[in-house]
Amino acid sequence: MRPSPVLRAERSPDSGLRERRDLRSRARLDLLSRSGGPVRYWPIALVLGLVIAAVVGWRLTRPAPVPPPVVAYSEFARALTAGKVREILVDQGGSRIVAELKAKELVQGHVVATVATSVPARGVSVEVLERWAASGARVRVSEHGGRSPEQVLQLLSFVVLVGGVSYLVVRQRGGHTKGRFLPTPPSRQLTLKDVGGAQEARADLQDVIAYLKDPARFEAMGAKCPKGLLLVGPPGTGKTLLARAVAGEAGVSVITAAGSDFNEMYVGVGSKRVRQLAEQARKAAPCIVFIDEFDSLGGRRGRPNRSGEEEVTLNQLLVEMDGMGGSEGIVWMAATNREDMLDPAVRRPGRFDRIVEVGLPTAADRLDILKIHARTAKLAADVDLERIASLTVGHSGAELANLLNEAAIMAVHEGTGEICARHIEAARDKILLGRVRAGVVVSQSERRLVALHEAGHAVVGLITCPEDRLHKVTIEARGRTLGAAHFAPDVDRHLHTRRYLLGVICKALGGRAAELVFLGPENVTSGAGGDLVQATSVARRMVADFGMSDEVGLVSADPSAHNGAAPGSQMLSQIDNAVRALIRTEADRAEALVREHRAVVEAVADALLEHDVLSADDVIRIAAAHGVEVEQALSAV
Ligand code: ATP
Repeated sequence: MRPSPVLRAERSPDSGLRERRDLRSRARLDLLSRSGGPVRYWPIALVLGLVIAAVVGWRLTRPAPVPPPVVAYSEFARALTAGKVREILVDQGGSRIVAELKAKELVQGHVVATVATSVPARGVSVEVLERWAASGARVRVSEHGGRSPEQVLQLLSFVVLVGGVSYLVVRQRGGHTKGRFLPTPPSRQLTLKDVGGAQEARADLQDVIAYLKDPARFEAMGAKCPKGLLLVGPPGTGKTLLARAVAGEAGVSVITAAGSDFNEMYVGVGSKRVRQLAEQARKAAPCIVFIDEFDSLGGRRGRPNRSGEEEVTLNQLLVEMDGMGGSEGIVWMAATNREDMLDPAVRRPGRFDRIVEVGLPTAADRLDILKIHARTAKLAADVDLERIASLTVGHSGAELANLLNEAAIMAVHEGTGEICARHIEAARDKILLGRVRAGVVVSQSERRLVALHEAGHAVVGLITCPEDRLHKVTIEARGRTLGAAHFAPDVDRHLHTRRYLLGVICKALGGRAAELVFLGPENVTSGAGGDLVQATSVARRMVADFGMSDEVGLVSADPSAHNGAAPGSQMLSQIDNAVRALIRTEADRAEALVREHRAVVEAVADALLEHDVLSADDVIRIAAAHGVEVEQALSAV
């Protein structure tokens, strides 16, 4: 239960993947070594700092010269005619004249030996200088073009400062491309032994490995290596890992880049980087060029929000790929989660024409991945990797790696010396439900409300959605929630029935139904916000994408079914009505179930108030004690 907007952390296969996406990044144990290394700014900053300190120090230690009083030109001319001037200095490029007098005089209240006057710029010609010299005064013209040494130093430091800042900006913005895209040598690569599961992807990549290992064998048959491969799949499924493993297996180096490396606001920088990448690849051949997050480089041209510069960069990439004959031994690999965003031109034969699907791991794949990551972990005898694999339906490789890593961290904190089953269980709860927030103070009335809400989810979910097994119900404040009824699918499911999806909606609305039944319509809370998001999104997909509503029928709202355009307003309003009707029906069903099993919901809520956390077995026992049998077997999860 979230403090304000959301009350639950109950999960469905659809929502689970999305909620866990951000965890993937934490599991990136094998981050790509980015070429180029860190930019060293400190020497430049040091030089700039020294120059500025020198100027400031010089100014502070040097007594500031008192400027001579400025007099009218007529007074200066009078003094010159009277023979009182010993020396004339033409300063500031001829716009200022400084006259040294033969004897000190009282000028503007001060006794001075020097006065200054202004003349129009370039107003002092050679004839004037000769005339002044003829009057007996010594005439000098400033050698610094009118600037004092102090001004010259200031100007110099300004130039150095501007130069330094410009250099930093250019370097930061990518004008300075030296050192980018350096190949990672084969000695630092992984092999396919480091990749769990992904059997189909491995099979697809065998050709590339074989070609890169022995190109002559293929060339003798006139065969060319596939030039570009596109690894497509959800985040954290091991696409980057596979690219590195292919390079490792073939014993070639790999040059890595990210699509965003080429996105620059400065004209020409993106295409320059593409050229540089291709140049590095030619030098390092045979090699693999791997571009991660490829959609930000290879996105559809002409799309709104896509700048002209991005299109030029993509064109440059296509030109570079076309310019390679296929015999250089350069294999381009790119990874994306958004294949639909790519420009059709990048998938043309001769470019990224081989699609390698890297999907979420199956139960056997998950076991494989867990075994790989357990190689370096110290597991206790009670850890059953097969059981963990069966409980982690929908988890990506990155999430599994993260699970073991979190468990290892917990074991270190506990000082147990090995990772036990309870660490893995706690790590799973932490990842799925968030860290326990011991400091959160929840009033008794709010605790009861949360308990009723979660009991509603649990009981309605157990009845309407037996495919998703109840894991546990809790009213501990964790992460951003105040409580959760956590369900998880027990097997990999690729298709969902209408009955199951309606059950998911009903289960999501079970919390609000319990509030309504026990507290009345005036006392329902804001905590069901997240439940409504989940219910609405499932209902919308059922209506708009899966043809599961009579009102809209078997018409898809997907833009690709409407020549890329959004469906018409009449259809959109039909969809809205159908979604609303579907949710209304399921909300009524949830409410009816809570009323029917009111005693069970209340007993589960009371037990939650007493124990904070209930296992699926506890809930099922309470239900059985009230004469309600649910399908889920005891100790299933
Ligand atoms: P993204 O699409 O977000 O770039 P990705 O598909 O490229 O993600 P990787 O970066 O390859 O995912 O994987 C991240 C981490 O997850 C890896 O470093 C590894 O620890 C783990 N991992 C993912 N898939 C596997 C796998 N099949 N076998 C072993 N470890 C894996």
